[in-house]
Amino acid sequence: MKRLNMKKLLLIGALAISGHVVMAQQHRCGTDEHLETLIKQNPSIKDAKAKFEADYRQFQATYKPEDYKTNQQLGKKAAPKYIIPVVVHVFHNNGSENISEAQVLSEINFLNRSFRNNVNDTVNRRAGWFKASPESTDSFYYDYKNLAADTEIEFRLAKKDPQGNCTNGIVRIHTPLASKGNDDLKKTSVWDTKRYFNIWVVRSINRGNSIGIAGYAQFPFGFGGGASTDGIMVIHNEFGNTGTSQPGQTPNVTTSTHEVGHWLGLYHPFQISTDSCGLDGDGVMDTPPTYFNPSSTEPLRNRCNNKSFNTCSTEKPDRPDLQEAYMDYFIGNCASNMFTLEQKGRMHKVLDDIRKTLWSEENLRFTGVIDGPATCPPVAAFNTQTPVTCAGQKISFLNFSYGGTISTHEWTFEGGTPATFTGLNPPQIQYDAPGTYDVTLKVTGPNGTTTTLLNDYVTIQPKSANLPKDNYTADWWYQNNWKEKGWRFVHENPKNQFARFPISYENNASMRLLRDPFNALSSVGTVSSLISPSFDFTGITNPYFEFYYAFAQGTLSANVGGGNTQEQLRVYSSIDCGKTWQTRSTVGSSAISTIGTGTAGTLASTIDFIPSDKSKWKLVRINGNAIPKTDNVLFKVEFEYAGGNNFYIDNVRVGLTTGLSQELLAEYLKFTAQPNPFNNATQLSYELANKEEVLVKVYDVTGKEMGTVFSGTQNAGIQKLELDRNTMNLRSGLYFVELNVGGNKLSHKIVVE
Ligand SMILES: [Zn+2]
Repeated sequence: MKRLNMKKLLLIGALAISGHVVMAQQHRCGTDEHLETLIKQNPSIKDAKAKFEADYRQFQATYKPEDYKTNQQLGKKAAPKYIIPVVVHVFHNNGSENISEAQVLSEINFLNRSFRNNVNDTVNRRAGWFKASPESTDSFYYDYKNLAADTEIEFRLAKKDPQGNCTNGIVRIHTPLASKGNDDLKKTSVWDTKRYFNIWVVRSINRGNSIGIAGYAQFPFGFGGGASTDGIMVIHNEFGNTGTSQPGQTPNVTTSTHEVGHWLGLYHPFQISTDSCGLDGDGVMDTPPTYFNPSSTEPLRNRCNNKSFNTCSTEKPDRPDLQEAYMDYFIGNCASNMFTLEQKGRMHKVLDDIRKTLWSEENLRFTGVIDGPATCPPVAAFNTQTPVTCAGQKISFLNFSYGGTISTHEWTFEGGTPATFTGLNPPQIQYDAPGTYDVTLKVTGPNGTTTTLLNDYVTIQPKSANLPKDNYTADWWYQNNWKEKGWRFVHENPKNQFARFPISYENNASMRLLRDPFNALSSVGTVSSLISPSFDFTGITNPYFEFYYAFAQGTLSANVGGGNTQEQLRVYSSIDCGKTWQTRSTVGSSAISTIGTGTAGTLASTIDFIPSDKSKWKLVRINGNAIPKTDNVLFKVEFEYAGGNNFYIDNVRVGLTTGLSQELLAEYLKFTAQPNPFNNATQLSYELANKEEVLVKVYDVTGKEMGTVFSGTQNAGIQKLELDRNTMNLRSGLYFVELNVGGNKLSHKIVVE
């Protein structure tokens, strides 16, 4: 396995944050960090871990390696002592991560090969004479060939689901979060973890502030074996050895074996202590000590094919690093191929104790792995990339039904044309009336029929929203009227949502997304969006869309899921009711901070960033050709979080810069003069959608300026001004009041009697 030591990687992370070169991405195991997060969320898990280790030390006192030796000859092995029912949840977004059944089976086969020690490449297991230290004159014999264990554990895909229905043990879930695997995603598809070993396969893992995690496991202690997050999560291209995970790719098929080892209670060799001589870094006595010095920059001593020496006493002589071990981390291309006898003993203890419900005969019948159905009906599955569109438009559906041969596919499209279709791939379906509609697919194979109904799956928006013009502002200080006006927030992570906060750019409230540097809310890598109602810009030459935001980057901001290195703020527009979005503006890397760049722009995760004055806010504005001049324009602001501090948004506005026709201006401003004609005075009234610069002047018929009624800034809402003939020395006759709002001039006739 090509794995870097965890502590080494943490050091690289620290360097990257302080502005030095970022190392090439490495895939690795995220189990230890997952445990750290769990302990932060629930400190009692630390006690459970201590008890687990104490219990194991008791077991160790009576442990005898002979008890765990079996006939290692291929083809002559005893029946497995433990059979584990498995369910594999494949999260996908229609990409290559929707791995084939053959790829899943290849991983199950590899797990059985590795746990049953059906490994033909024993040539890579070493034995020989070794000196305990370079100075030593004594040599001793070591033998890793005879340390390798057949763990007598077998994995079988479930044949019955928790409801007793026939299954092939694979569940496929279409989700945009397939690239953001974490504990919250697990909970969206999990089978009773006391009855099934749950494996979740994703496109990439988004576990905290970590780079390039290939997989992570949940240790057995702390939950009584019943947590909805119990199991392992692995990226698709390290799962199995066919399809997207080819043999020889780096890293490789042993990732799942390593994670299952954790799930059955095995530690990394440096888990308990970094003591190079204690022989108990992993709590298991038959694995050799590891050596590393966390405060040193020298290379780790554990390397493939090396002969590193730990300075240990003669009673505990060093042995060559166990590069053969599945549970180790090494620099270099090690041929991991074994569990040790005591690792087997430790896993058996976990199975006999915490995980005993899994392999009971009752459960093996419940899950169908013994006496289960031979074959199942196929599973109907489909989706669309565009579940939201405008009336009159068409939607494509993709069929990804699975589970053996399928003879017929029968579709029903409520509200669509055609309303039914029989066949693998339906034509594009046209939707003419606004509303939400169900889509149903029924599939039939030699072993039966299943039907999948997606309730209210398709949303059809009115073609043109035709909203009143005062919808042009979303100001959070109103009584949340932005919702009534059709603005909405959409959150990938339902646990961390924008909420009203009483600090703002102007007035008294903004919307805030909370910081989550330790990913306690699983926010890192998730996107939160603000979507506008529809606007009509027909005949308008220069509208704008703008907002203010405030954000401080955190010292823990990091590359997650192989995507962006830091937070990103993106602005989009759509002219098809949100079916497709065009990028109009992107703010990323250090420029996204509103309090400076470099260290000035970052705040420690323990500090709550509050934009205390206007200098802590930045304006984002799009205008000109970035705004389509059509009748059905939506805007979307997207914020992708990466572990920084609080994010605020305020003063979201759609405005009109210049170039409005007199008709549109009259419609927007609702300008009146009452009475008109008048003798002494008249009252001018108009309505502002936004806070604006306003200039009101009076001219005579020759264009001569007679005076200024008002000059300054006015808030949104109805404005009233008094025009007195004496102040401006107006004689009887015709005049023009010119109302200049943000550069747009509207002229209105008045008559003085
Ligand atoms: Zn690990």
